[in-house]
Amino acid sequence: MLGRLLKSSSSSFSSSNSCKPPVGIFRYRRIARSPEDNLQSSTALLLHCPASSRTRTSTKRLVTGIILILVLKTGILTPAMADPLTPLSRPPDWDELQKFQGTITHDRFLHLLNDVYAVGGTAQKCITMEPDYAEIQTSGKHRLKLKFAKDGGRPIPKYWHDPKTLPADNDQPLAGVTIALDPGHLGGSWAKMEERWFRIGNAEPVKEGDLTLQTAKRLAPRLEELGAKVIFVHSKPGPVTSLRPEDLHSEARASLKSRGVHPILRNYKGPAHPEKEHSIAWEAERLFYRVAEIHERAKRVNHTLKPDLTLCLHFNAEPWGDPANPTLTDINHLHLIVNGAYAESELAYADVRYQMLVKLLSQSFDEELDIAESIAHSLSDITKLPAYHYNSDNARAEGTSGYVWARNLLANRLYHCPVAYVECYVMNSRDFFDRFQAGEYDGLREFNGVMHKNIYAEYADGVAQGLADYFRAARGSEEVKREK
Ligand SMILES: [Zn+2]
Repeated sequence: MLGRLLKSSSSSFSSSNSCKPPVGIFRYRRIARSPEDNLQSSTALLLHCPASSRTRTSTKRLVTGIILILVLKTGILTPAMADPLTPLSRPPDWDELQKFQGTITHDRFLHLLNDVYAVGGTAQKCITMEPDYAEIQTSGKHRLKLKFAKDGGRPIPKYWHDPKTLPADNDQPLAGVTIALDPGHLGGSWAKMEERWFRIGNAEPVKEGDLTLQTAKRLAPRLEELGAKVIFVHSKPGPVTSLRPEDLHSEARASLKSRGVHPILRNYKGPAHPEKEHSIAWEAERLFYRVAEIHERAKRVNHTLKPDLTLCLHFNAEPWGDPANPTLTDINHLHLIVNGAYAESELAYADVRYQMLVKLLSQSFDEELDIAESIAHSLSDITKLPAYHYNSDNARAEGTSGYVWARNLLANRLYHCPVAYVECYVMNSRDFFDRFQAGEYDGLREFNGVMHKNIYAEYADGVAQGLADYFRAARGSEEVKREK
């Protein structure tokens, strides 16, 4: 495992969200920098793994140091030496996978593994397929045998409901469906820190976290009219996590060290500081708003809210250059993301491997894809936006619409229920910027020769329509089957 990590590519690691930051940071992050790829060297693993507890005696520390030097010098690595985890993650409880024994057939497991989650054999080193079971690398050298179902298999343990089991209802297609709205980012006074903020001249600043929240608030009543119970993962600007950047300095330092950053700066001088990414302050902020925040939201979703579906709402951006003098672009687009396309280097982390298996064994992919396709259809129809196209290894086209991509993001991985992750509009496109400045208004207004609803209403209408279409089609199909 360590060997793979040392050799692992530094590219195509996923971030907690897919929105693109300003130019400069953008390329660096896309290639090698996201909160989860901070621990790709063995040094980082030893710093972060549970075996490096501060309570160790100095003798043990010395031994660890010697082992580390030997490992680095000789390349002699054994899987049992460490159980690497992504930042701020706990070792997974592999026994939790026991509840999936006998719930999935061999062929279905193989299809989801090869065609969705670990395309191109990226899980080959950690999952071995046998006719009756899969052997899964858990921690160190340990393996877990997951037995396959013979036919239909036992019911899948999950907290969300299958829409096929709901009675048909064309008037209230979302009746009995609980939907969690997860407006992306923190917004408000935190928007600058999370680099989801820009301002052109004296115009109103654009803050992605505020845009997503406003959209969620417009969307909620539309979904309720369709019969849904709507709950918010967060309903006001600011963090859900109680952690703050100042609580994460030691993790930030370890993360920088793991990348071989030297010298490590204590602070940075604003967003344009060329060496800000070498500073503990900047790294701690990223761990706060990108990692700790999503972990806390996931806890809410999986343990408190337990919805049938989570909608992650985002606005995209193209590189806007100098943060002090951002530029607008003519590029504008739309896409949706489903969970999948894990890289081999990602699956070397015990927590990522575990979470991928939970997603796979929950068998929510078909529903996630159908929902994403349905929203893509209605949202592209309403907005007339073209599809965004990834040109990187960490994304894979899914479905037939051209708008849906599989990616391993922190949010769509940690939220166990089906997730629709929407990236609509480019915030720094000229079209969007003019419409943003117009704010909310009733009816239609002309922009660039085209009549439009306000952006929040348009976004909300597109998502609501897509969900209504999906649930109308999906509901009652089990009922019909039972009646036959
Ligand atoms: Zn975003």
